[in-house]
Amino acid sequence: MNKTLLGQYLRQLRLDKGLNQQQLADLSGVSQPHISKIEKGKEGPSDAAVLKVCQALEHEDPNQLPESFLRTIKPERVWAYCPNADCPGAKRPMVGQSDVIRPNFLEIDEGQTRWCGECREVLVCRCPNPDCRAPAMPGAFCTMCGTKYVENTSKSPTPSD
Ligand SMILES: [Zn+2]
Ligand SMILES: [Zn+2]
Repeated sequence: MNKTLLGQYLRQLRLDKGLNQQQLADLSGVSQPHISKIEKGKEGPSDAAVLKVCQALEHEDPNQLPESFLRTIKPERVWAYCPNADCPGAKRPMVGQSDVIRPNFLEIDEGQTRWCGECREVLVCRCPNPDCRAPAMPGAFCTMCGTKYVENTSKSPTPSD
């Protein structure tokens, strides 16, 4: 259970119902100081107390918060890159390393689908290496495993073809 998020959600529910903390205390049988702690996501109140408050607010499952609420929480900003090797926004930074591509990077809200402003490709926010999947950081390579973010596929075909 994410207590901070749950607390924010319960506070929202209480305000939606036009209750103050004391009225909710009377309704749920949980003391007002505990309700205050629950809403702030602090340690102290037992899970049973949290459950009572949830029930008083007609929220069934403390481990499950509705999508509609989670969408209102300010999302994290993450870096995302354009995976298209031919993207006009991609840079080939060093002479003699024309196969090293520094992809077009943008900062986006985590979990959001965004498109490259240059080529309309869907942006990727994780390392392409399936064993790594580290969050992407601006540059040509993953800082965790060294995998190139974008393989230059537009060059001459590999000998094995
Ligand atoms: Zn692009
Ligand atoms: Zn990686």
